[in-house]
Amino acid sequence: MGLLRFKMIETVMNRSAVEVTPPAGRPSEYFGSKVFGRKAMRKYLDRRTYDALVDTIENGTPLTREIADGIASGMRQWAMEHGADHYTHWFQPLTGGTAEKHDSFTAPDGQGGVLEEFSGKLLIQQEPDASSFPSGGIRNTFEARGYSAWDPTSPAFIVDTTLCIPTVFISYTGEALDYKVPLLRSISAVDKAATEVCRYFDRNVNRVFSYLGWEQEYFLIDESMWAARPDMVLTGRTMMGHESAKNQQLEDHYFGAIPLRVMAFMRDLEYECLQLGIPVKTRHNEVAPNQFELAPVYEEVNLANDHNQLLMTVMDKVARRHRFRVLLHEKPFKGVNGSGKHNNWSLGTDTGVNLLGPGHTALENLQFITFLVNTISAVHKHNGLLKASVMSATNSHRLGANEAPPAIISTFLGEQISAVLDKLAAGSDDEAIRFDAKSVFRMNGISRIPSIFLDNTDRNRTSPFAFTGNRFEFRAVGSSDNCAEAMIVLNTAVANELTEFRKEVDAKIAEGAKKERAIYEVLKRKIRESRAVRFEGNGYSDEWREEAGRRGLDCETSTPENLKRYLDDSSVRMFGDMGVYTRVELEARTEVKWETYVKKVQIESRVLGDLAMNHIVPIASKYEAVLLDKACRMKELGMMSTSDVELIRRIQEHTVSIQSGTSRMIEARKQANRIENMYEKAVAYHDSVAVLFDDIRKHIDSLEEIVDDQLWTLPKYREIMFIK
Ligand code: ADP
Ligand code: MG
Repeated sequence: MGLLRFKMIETVMNRSAVEVTPPAGRPSEYFGSKVFGRKAMRKYLDRRTYDALVDTIENGTPLTREIADGIASGMRQWAMEHGADHYTHWFQPLTGGTAEKHDSFTAPDGQGGVLEEFSGKLLIQQEPDASSFPSGGIRNTFEARGYSAWDPTSPAFIVDTTLCIPTVFISYTGEALDYKVPLLRSISAVDKAATEVCRYFDRNVNRVFSYLGWEQEYFLIDESMWAARPDMVLTGRTMMGHESAKNQQLEDHYFGAIPLRVMAFMRDLEYECLQLGIPVKTRHNEVAPNQFELAPVYEEVNLANDHNQLLMTVMDKVARRHRFRVLLHEKPFKGVNGSGKHNNWSLGTDTGVNLLGPGHTALENLQFITFLVNTISAVHKHNGLLKASVMSATNSHRLGANEAPPAIISTFLGEQISAVLDKLAAGSDDEAIRFDAKSVFRMNGISRIPSIFLDNTDRNRTSPFAFTGNRFEFRAVGSSDNCAEAMIVLNTAVANELTEFRKEVDAKIAEGAKKERAIYEVLKRKIRESRAVRFEGNGYSDEWREEAGRRGLDCETSTPENLKRYLDDSSVRMFGDMGVYTRVELEARTEVKWETYVKKVQIESRVLGDLAMNHIVPIASKYEAVLLDKACRMKELGMMSTSDVELIRRIQEHTVSIQSGTSRMIEARKQANRIENMYEKAVAYHDSVAVLFDDIRKHIDSLEEIVDDQLWTLPKYREIMFIK
């Protein structure tokens, strides 16, 4: 075994779990202690300031300068008492991740000293040097600057010694340069549309919230292994590596005991999360070795998404403390499952009703069916766009590759709900619908729907968009994604659908139809028209791919092509009507996505080329030389060494293939780099560069199997993937 690798493995074997100081007190005591939430606000703000801020948070009332100064002063005092000496606007640029620029609270006092200050102006607005964040040309066309502005609906928090203020990031002309602006717009669009529809059923509803409960999957690996794999360091994944003899076949990792070192990491992470007000709840092993999942209790989408963004940063930090690296890449290892981020999504009213949960009365159930059907219909109409919202260079290794979920968006409802919808669609208006011997769902006409009990065990793990009893679970989201992108499309599509629904129903009522009858008629049509998106079978099967194509669902697997769905007329119209994106914004953002795709594949291609040429080929040649030497000497002694000669021939074949494959890849890259148009460039990278990776890798992995282990420098899968 190579000396370096040997040393690393020795280090890993000798590592013990990092001691974790048990948190002081109970979770209920330290939960949110690093958040400027209602409790801290009450303590650090005077009554008038507090009331004004709550009014802003709840009703969007603009703040006066004086109130803003009051808030800033209270916030600073709280932050300093909790160890902070700097503050930053914390925003979510299109590069992914979060961005921050720290400023200290101190300012010269004009008399040779300093004093601490933080004004309302600094709280509300900052001008980060925006030129290095992608804008898809928006800032060039209009104004070179961008600015960040406070989002009071998501509370400020402290990380280490910095007060972080969640902000939006916009250009001077008001275009969104981040994920938060369109997310907030989509939240308000679905609120408006859903509230209007709720009023058919309950006039007391004034607001509808969209909720998100994410489940974050990730891999953990020892940091010395990570450091010795340049592919992992630079691209977040292994670009080569022969499968371990044992990986996930036995499925013994899932729900198995969590290794001690990992447990110490998780406890530390959870403590940090709880202090930051992230309501983490569930932790467990995932299917692949070294793969884990963390899930919180669901929250309003904007806050939930901020918490997920924050979690990803905190995870990285805590992992380093424990000498781990956390891998959020969607597919760090070949041959075992990749990581996703399930987005559990639902809508709920300010009167406390979950609109995607069956109710107890006929009216409640009609309301439930209304929201269910409108969601399905929205997903049907925009299935290609919804897929585009989660498509990326990294997530494409999951979607449309050989693993779940497939690159086709369909929805699974379960037998019961499916049957209910089919009966509804087929039934004539007056026909009594009796369904299920257990009287689970019985209906006479429409005005008598008693209760629906949902069987939660009725699950389909292969569906990318599954109804799971009181919510939809969107499983195609990538583990490294910003959840906002998927939530923006979903919220907007549902808002648009509900708006049209309301118009249609109102028109029928205006023509004299009774309200329930009008609703029923429109729903019937929608159920029939969206039938194609419903699929209860195995989403991973080849038959489904063919069937889905026949049904007219979007089956595109190429990321650059799929991203075009953002610019379809139907998408531009929908985003425009709902006030979520202008055409300029859509064009700019799609441009950024293509560019990001190009950059990622470009980096991967360079890393693969470098490793192939300066690790793999030299190692193979060294071993080949040893064998050649041996074969020659044996021949001198008059002995035949056919197996050595055969091995030499194989090594030679693989190295030649690697060398020629790498040259072809470099040539393809050069050609692609000459293309100006970003879409065409991305297509070239997809069609002529990325396609070559697998073949080069195949030869490298074959060499790994036959070359002397002592010469091999890169840690192998079997060494990386099992934390002891
Ligand atoms: P599973 O692995 O079975 O999907 P988990 O417990 O891992 O279940 O995750 C379920 C997620 O769904 C959690 O984040 C939970 O908060 C969230 N969730 C539950 N109910 C709702 C709801 N009504 N709306 C949105 N998210 C929800
Ligand atoms: Mg789930």
